[in-house]
Amino acid sequence: MQNIYNYTLDELEEFFLANGSKKFHALQLFLWLYDKRVKTFDEMSNLSHDMIQLLKSSFSIDRIQIVDKQEEEDVCKYLFELYDGEHVEAVLMKHDYGKSVCVSSQVGCNMGCRFCESGRRKKVRNLETYEMVLQILMIEELLGERISHVVVMGIGEPFDNYQNLIHFFQIINHPKGLAIGARHITVSTCGLVPKILEFSDFPLQVNLAVSLHAPNNEIRNQIMPINKVYPLEEVFDALKYYFQKTNRRITFEYILLKGINDSEENAIQLSNLVKDMNCYINLIPYNETNNIDFKRTNTIQIMKFYDILKKNHINVTIRREFGGNINAACGQLRSIKEDL
Ligand code: SAH
Repeated sequence: MQNIYNYTLDELEEFFLANGSKKFHALQLFLWLYDKRVKTFDEMSNLSHDMIQLLKSSFSIDRIQIVDKQEEEDVCKYLFELYDGEHVEAVLMKHDYGKSVCVSSQVGCNMGCRFCESGRRKKVRNLETYEMVLQILMIEELLGERISHVVVMGIGEPFDNYQNLIHFFQIINHPKGLAIGARHITVSTCGLVPKILEFSDFPLQVNLAVSLHAPNNEIRNQIMPINKVYPLEEVFDALKYYFQKTNRRITFEYILLKGINDSEENAIQLSNLVKDMNCYINLIPYNETNNIDFKRTNTIQIMKFYDILKKNHINVTIRREFGGNINAACGQLRSIKEDL
C-alpha cells in the first residue's frame, strides 16, 4: 500500500475525483497531514466515515522512526529507521537566518566518490518520497519550530532518484504542505547530465549545486568515477542549458583535498573553467574520516586558493563547518549503528 505522504495535492485531488468524490477533500486531507499533523485517518473529523474507510483501504499513514539523536551546539543529527529496518540520517543546522535540514535521498549511494564516507555503502534502494518528506516534518515536530531551508545533500545521489525527488519538492514547497520556499531549497548532484537537462525544465525555482571537486577531467576521473560517464565538458554544456532555461545561478562545491586538487595551479585552472558561468564556488574543507586516506588542506593553503579565485573575480565562499564532532559533517553521514 502506498504511503499518504507520497502524494502531491494534485494527485490527491485526482484520487478523490476518480472515486466519485469532490476534489476539495484533498485540501482537507492535506491540512490534516501538514497543518494539524494528525497521525491517523480516524482523527480527520471533517471527512465522512466512508471517506475515512476509503483512505484506510487505499493508503498507509505510517511514519519513519527517529531512533537516535546526537546534538552539538548548533547542529543535531537524527538517525531514522525505515519500514525495512534500513537507516538514514538527516542533519539540522541552526543558522542566524533560520534552520536548515540536510536530507538523505537514498539508502547508500552508487556514485563511488573516493573521498566520501557516505558512499562506501552501495545503494540499497531509493528513498520513497514520504521518507524524505517525513525527515523534515518529524524534525519540525520534535523542535516545535518551522524549518526554513532544505538541502538535499545527505546520503545518496538525489538525481539518481529523480521522480521521488521531484514529488518531494512539490510537497514541501506547497503553501498548504510544508510551505518551504523553492529558493530556500537546494539539491546537490555529482553531475548526472541527463537529469540536469531534465531539471532545467522543472518549474519550481529550486537551487542547483554541483559537486565539482576538480578543475580538470584528469583529477576528476581519479576521485569521481561518474566523470568517466559524464566528463566536465558534458556537465558544463548541461549547466549552460540549465542557465539558459532558468536564469539561476549555480553553486559549485569544491572540496579541498591535500595534494590532490588544492595547488595554486589548480586554483587558476578552476578560475578558467568557471569564468563564463553565472556561479559561485563553495570551498569545502575536507572532513577526514578513519576509513579514507585523503587529507584536509591546511588553512593557509585554503586561503591561498581562495585568494586566487577572488583575484580572478570568481564568487567564492568557504563553507562554514557544522557537526564535525558528531560525524554529521559533509560526507560523514554513515550510521555507526550499522557498523559497516
Ligand atoms: N550525491 C550528491 C549529494 C551529496 S552532497 C552530490 O554528490 O552532490 C554531499 C556533499 O558533500 C557533496 O558535495 C560531497 O562531494 C561532499 N563530501 C563528501 N565527502 C566529504 C567529506 N569527507 N568532506 C567534505 N565534503 C564531503
